[in-house]
Amino acid sequence: MPDPNQTDRGVLEAIRGGDAAAWTRLVEEYQGRLLRFASARVPQRADAEDIVQDTFASFIKVTKTLQIETSIETYLFGILRNRLVDRLRTRWARSVCLIQDVCRTGADEGPVEPLARMPATDPSVSWCVSHSEQRQLQRQVLTEALQQLIRGFQEARKFRDLKVAEMVFYGQLTSVEIARLLGLEEGLVRVVKHRCLEAIRARIAQCDALKDASISYSEDLLTEVWETQRLSCPKRSVLSEFLLESLSPEWFDYVDFHLALMGCHFCRANFKDLQEQQTGDQHTQFRQRIVTSTVGFLSEA
Ligand SMILES: [Zn+2]
Repeated sequence: MPDPNQTDRGVLEAIRGGDAAAWTRLVEEYQGRLLRFASARVPQRADAEDIVQDTFASFIKVTKTLQIETSIETYLFGILRNRLVDRLRTRWARSVCLIQDVCRTGADEGPVEPLARMPATDPSVSWCVSHSEQRQLQRQVLTEALQQLIRGFQEARKFRDLKVAEMVFYGQLTSVEIARLLGLEEGLVRVVKHRCLEAIRARIAQCDALKDASISYSEDLLTEVWETQRLSCPKRSVLSEFLLESLSPEWFDYVDFHLALMGCHFCRANFKDLQEQQTGDQHTQFRQRIVTSTVGFLSEA
């Protein structure tokens, strides 16, 4: 009677022998079903993909010693289930959904081309050029205004106000939602928002080129500037300190907010990369420690 696991054993044997094509075929065969499984349990596709990627990484790490008793598929699903359970125990599990995913559904479609909004009744090329230049200048001034605002909050350790500003301009949340999420009075959120807009207007008023141009900046433009310039994103060195838990409590709380509640995709990717690097470093250090402590036995042999 043919062994139903014969094929799986053959695949494992090829992967153990370093056959990259066999590994690629295996990933191709199982990635779809694993992703569907994960997607049904994790709201964000990017998170589901991460978990599936981790599953394959775990699998390939054990192939050398793996004894297949059931099938590769059962084994892969077993790892995936464990990963999903682990995830529920992590700190990020408490944010059921990430603001950036919920409120910014169009974010992945790329920036809106400003000229695409040009009225069809105005075919004038010069109008296009001046409109484009004006938008460029607007962006530049808004970038400076927002940078100044954010730096001011950071230097004064006004992280509560920074969180509110980030939720208003980066997350496009309403005052009601912000008040609920941060546990603040709605009136206070409105006051902070008002002060931010005042500061931005004051900065624009200082710009001679924009003074007479009757600029009307939308909140969409503020969001676009904030996102494309990643104005409030912590530097990689700060994320690294966050990982090592060596930040001051206020900074730690803010970075946690930016990663877990705002769910900034850029910073989450960056943070994950750092985590992997740290694991790699620890692995190397551990190996070195073992080698250093055991190498003496070789000469005695
Ligand atoms: Zn960020």
